[in-house]
Amino acid sequence: MLRDLHNHTQASDGSLSPHELVELAVERGVDELAITDHDSVAGVLALREQAHDFDIKIVEGVEISAGWGKHTLHIVGLNIDPEHSALSSFLKLQQQKRYTRALEMAHKMQKAGVEQAVNDVEIMLQEQNMVCRTHLAQYLLDKGAVNNFANAFKKYLAKGGKAFVKDDWFELEDAIAIIKQAGGVPVLAHPTRYKMGSNQLHELIQTFQRLGGEAIEVCYPNIHPGKKNLLANWVQKYNLLASQGSDFHSPDKPWALLGKFPPMPDKVTPVWTAWQ
Ligand code: AMP
Ligand code: MN
Ligand code: MN
Ligand code: MN
Repeated sequence: MLRDLHNHTQASDGSLSPHELVELAVERGVDELAITDHDSVAGVLALREQAHDFDIKIVEGVEISAGWGKHTLHIVGLNIDPEHSALSSFLKLQQQKRYTRALEMAHKMQKAGVEQAVNDVEIMLQEQNMVCRTHLAQYLLDKGAVNNFANAFKKYLAKGGKAFVKDDWFELEDAIAIIKQAGGVPVLAHPTRYKMGSNQLHELIQTFQRLGGEAIEVCYPNIHPGKKNLLANWVQKYNLLASQGSDFHSPDKPWALLGKFPPMPDKVTPVWTAWQ
């Protein structure tokens, strides 16, 4: 059984439609696929009408951006009810925060010399579901303001960049609570990708568990084997479940291929035992 429990579509910053994502997953031999767009269930809802056409199990999910002190965390919710009304209201507010942030970033880009940035981003905001930093990075690359995608983050969009805007997401405890209210399992996404040392990461995992978090991602692309083992030990120690997923965004991003990530360690309880 191949399960990929972290994936993006055009409903956030992925390049495929939900339908195309499912087709690719079937082609890659994925048996169970979670759709986890940033702060949106639009892709999940779009697929509800088509899912019966496919021989694959769809896990309806979301990846919520959340604040924890000075850090921005990503909390995946698996098996949420995408029509849950409190979750819908929550996501609507997150989208409003995203809208305001994209405009503020556009103003900063224009100030830094990117001509027409405000006008161009206003058009993007009208034309697509949401504007993530991924879209702004592509825009800066297309405009010739940077020579590669990574530099768009480094020079403009990441902390310290010319167009950086501190985000204003709901807090970690709010993200966990809303996922549980909507019937889902809260999963701490890619724990080793946050800019914190091991001691703080340990503190985060304890806090996450205390606030009602239930699972953490242990298997994802490029995780260092030693770190994977450390996460697996914490999963055991704090009675958590372990999750896995590629964090797939686009077929042209070879560092996150659909269905590809290291294997689940034997010593942990996998997250899918929560719904099997
Ligand atoms: P946002 O949620 O709008 O702040 O955008 C965050 C998304 O941008 C992440 O989910 C990644 O897909 C992408 N991202 C963040 N940092 C980088 C980076 N340094 N290089 C490439 N993509 C990045
Ligand atoms: Mn993303
Ligand atoms: Mn993420
Ligand atoms: Mn993701």
